[in-house]
Amino acid sequence: MIVGGGGTGGALAHDLALRGLRVTLVERGEITSGTTGRHHGLLHSGARYAVKDRESAVECIEENRILRTIAPGSFELNDGLFVALTDEEAAYEKLFFDSCEASQIPARRVGRAEALRLEPNLNPDLRCAVQVPDGTMDAMRLPLRFFATARRNGADIRPFTEVVGMSMTTPTSVDGVQVVDRASGRRYDIGADLVVNAAGPWGEKISRMGGVDVPIQPSPGILVAVRGRFANMVINRLHASGDGDIVLPQRELSVIGTSSWVTDDPDHLAVPADHVEAMFREGSAMIPSLRGARIRASWSAARPLIGERGASTGRELSRTFKCFDHEADDGVSGFVTIAGGKATTLRAMAESTADMVCRKLGVDRPCATRETELLPHTAYYA
Ligand SMILES: Cc1cc2nc3c(=O)[nH]c(=O)nc-3n(C[C@H](O)[C@H](O)[C@H](O)COP(=O)(O)OP(=O)(O)OC[C@H]3O[C@@H](n4cnc5c(N)ncnc54)[C@H](O)[C@@H]3O)c2cc1C
Repeated sequence: MIVGGGGTGGALAHDLALRGLRVTLVERGEITSGTTGRHHGLLHSGARYAVKDRESAVECIEENRILRTIAPGSFELNDGLFVALTDEEAAYEKLFFDSCEASQIPARRVGRAEALRLEPNLNPDLRCAVQVPDGTMDAMRLPLRFFATARRNGADIRPFTEVVGMSMTTPTSVDGVQVVDRASGRRYDIGADLVVNAAGPWGEKISRMGGVDVPIQPSPGILVAVRGRFANMVINRLHASGDGDIVLPQRELSVIGTSSWVTDDPDHLAVPADHVEAMFREGSAMIPSLRGARIRASWSAARPLIGERGASTGRELSRTFKCFDHEADDGVSGFVTIAGGKATTLRAMAESTADMVCRKLGVDRPCATRETELLPHTAYYA
């Protein structure tokens, strides 16, 4: 039983179904209606994390390579440019470049003139740039390919089915979930050998239903989409991660992101006006013509980061992921949580979780998702 139909739950359903397990996934809304369907759309090369979060950088570049082979056609393989605008950023370039190399991220130094040839809308005062294999993805279509393939292999995917409690024969044993069908209002139980909590920023709430605590810190950020493509590559600012320092072309839009704060309630997220202003200010520092761009939409979503409550903005927390075995950690059997990570690392998160699930259920089948090409996203609706 998987709780949560974001990218993580979908990739896990696919992995477990390929290994021959009987899988049911429940999602309280439409598939990808949580954080997954609202993310920036960046297929990370890992460069953003190379200096300060090496583990996450290495995960990203490995998964970037695998996703290109198992989900052909799902990405705009446009590469990314990290641009230095100040003396300080130009001085940071060496550390950035060396850190990319140390993380096995192919990086190429690009001079000012070449950067402007590649992307004529860039700020002409830029000092230097570094090119890396970032890409653009559709936040919904990539995970839909995992759901489509999982379902073709027998997984039972139930959207609009909300978990409202755990079925527990004793206070230390989870045997399934209690759900409400949000279309009909019917309440029923679903028994399971093992329940995996893949509820992203809602993961802590689900874990409490099983009587355990997981350190998930929901960390929202906003995104602003404007009409028109202002660059064809993903444009990033060459400095430590900050607000509004990525401009990503997405079809005929450009999406500027993001900001970062922390919250206890991922259901009620604001889109603060000063954050929208910051997206324009920082985005137009890299691409001056963005200042006059017309807004198509602005929205927010919450990252499911691992970390004890009390973080200041969320930027200090790693983007890596972790599987929690609640039997080993808390003495509650039949219950596992997967948390953290990125949309880029959904397959790796699923592989680690499926390995844990198989170990616990005594199933000896290797992961096959690295080499299994996914069905197209349209197959989900077929
Ligand atoms: C602003 C922003 C920008 C980002 N940009 C990028 C990016 O460009 N590239 C990248 O790789 N990553 C990006 N990320 C990170 C990425 O979006 C997340 O790491 C990823 O989408 C999390 O997926 P998930 O499946 O773990 O969580 P979710 O997608 O949130 O899935 C959890 C699901 O659980 C469901 N659920 C909750 N409670 C219940 C319940 N009681 N019963 C049933 N279901 C329930 C929710 O409805 C939800 O659909 C970004 C994140 C943010 C916030």
